[in-house]
Amino acid sequence: MEKLIFYNTLSRKKEEFKPIIPDHAGLYTCGPTVYNYAHLGNLRAYIFEDVLKRVLLYNGYQVRHVMNITDVGHLTGDMDMGEDKMEKKARADKKNIWEIAAFYTDAFKKDLQALNIIEPDVWLKATETITEQIALVKILEEKGFTYKTSDGIYFDTSRFPAYGRLSHLDLETLKEGARVEKNQEKKHPTDFALWKFSPRGEKRQMEWPSLWGIGFPGWHLECSVMSALGLKEMRDIHCGGVDHINVHHTNEIAQYEAAYGRKFFNYWLHNEFLNITGGKKMAKSAGNFLTLDNSLRQKNLPPLAYRFAALQTHYRKPMEYSEESLANASQSFLHLRRQIREIKSTGPEGPDGGHASGRNFQADFQRAINDDLNTPKALAVAQEMLKSELPAAVKLALWLDFDRVLGLGISGQEDEISPAVQALAREREEARRKKDFGRSDELRRQLEDMGYEVADQKDGQKIFKR
Ligand code: AMP
Ligand code: ZN
Repeated sequence: MEKLIFYNTLSRKKEEFKPIIPDHAGLYTCGPTVYNYAHLGNLRAYIFEDVLKRVLLYNGYQVRHVMNITDVGHLTGDMDMGEDKMEKKARADKKNIWEIAAFYTDAFKKDLQALNIIEPDVWLKATETITEQIALVKILEEKGFTYKTSDGIYFDTSRFPAYGRLSHLDLETLKEGARVEKNQEKKHPTDFALWKFSPRGEKRQMEWPSLWGIGFPGWHLECSVMSALGLKEMRDIHCGGVDHINVHHTNEIAQYEAAYGRKFFNYWLHNEFLNITGGKKMAKSAGNFLTLDNSLRQKNLPPLAYRFAALQTHYRKPMEYSEESLANASQSFLHLRRQIREIKSTGPEGPDGGHASGRNFQADFQRAINDDLNTPKALAVAQEMLKSELPAAVKLALWLDFDRVLGLGISGQEDEISPAVQALAREREEARRKKDFGRSDELRRQLEDMGYEVADQKDGQKIFKR
């Protein structure tokens, strides 16, 4: 098997993957802030991370994957200013904050399922690890890395010389980037909050006592704590979008390495953005973001078409969203699905042109994915293989092998659909006939939760097992 190579943001180079424990790989992926639905940009990050995990599995590694849920402490301002996104949403919706967190965590997990993303082995919530987070601040305080202001305990970045290592920017340049914010009490613009005090005279829905006063943890703290809690010594790979490089991940490294004097993670992989037309990053705070529901399901496109679209762009290249490109990806995805069904129904007696091109598709596929997850190339190899003169049974076997990495969930299976599912499908057809689209959407979601996909085609509704 070809060497497994990743582009490491730490070295800004492609490097061979060498795990800490042979044959094992530890993976930490920064999870969602659960005050709203995930948008397609966020989901691009999780699809990339899923491909990464599948490539590790394909290469024979035993993977331990940890993901956090940010349910406290992520502020609306970039750097320790503004409101807690969760508290703000709870106030706007006049709801209990814990219910909001539970609702959007659940919605996020459903999105992962719809995109055929393998669940992490360990989920950790920020609010479940407050004690450990306080303990880390205490260590930093004892080692002299902190100072107190009127609104919290801060990390003094001038005490940590390696601060710019991940971003490859010197402290002066990072300071320029951070200067937009008006926090007069910070000693340096890059300093960041470890613990914030609850505002005077205000009772937050989420707050905890600490050695320094009632408050809540700074956003970066949770990932330094939870990655180490979940992975122990297996801190191989840490991921997120490129927006995390200069602040969030830089601060995670500073906290951990200043406290323990050990390297935090060996490999840092970052995905580029999904942009909306004009090169603007899709963002939750923009308020006009696209979800699996409003950009796919409501247009009768299968959610997995978005996974297909994401695979067509290398994760380190910006991806441009347009309705048209998504519709095209959907056509190609459905075509692929039909192709595999046909191959499957042809059976072993299918056309046998032998290895006409003499090409070793499996080797080409492996070379592509092991070269820093080149999914566009891997998809192209898969498509050429399907068009080739190989016997149907060989094609199917190769496809199923490739799909372990691509994760498009296409098996060519014409399913036995259970009577319960058939009943729901009939009910949905009836609802659509009566133009009760609210009910039909609800039933679609129910079917999707059960692992089925619904496509409304000209000759009626079709149900597929995912
Ligand atoms: P958040 O819920 O904002 O913490 O973001 C969750 C993940 O999505 C992080 O890894 C972000 O870096 C990533 N992300 C946010 N916006 C985009 C975008 N437009 N394109 C790709 N990834 C993004
Ligand atoms: Zn994080």
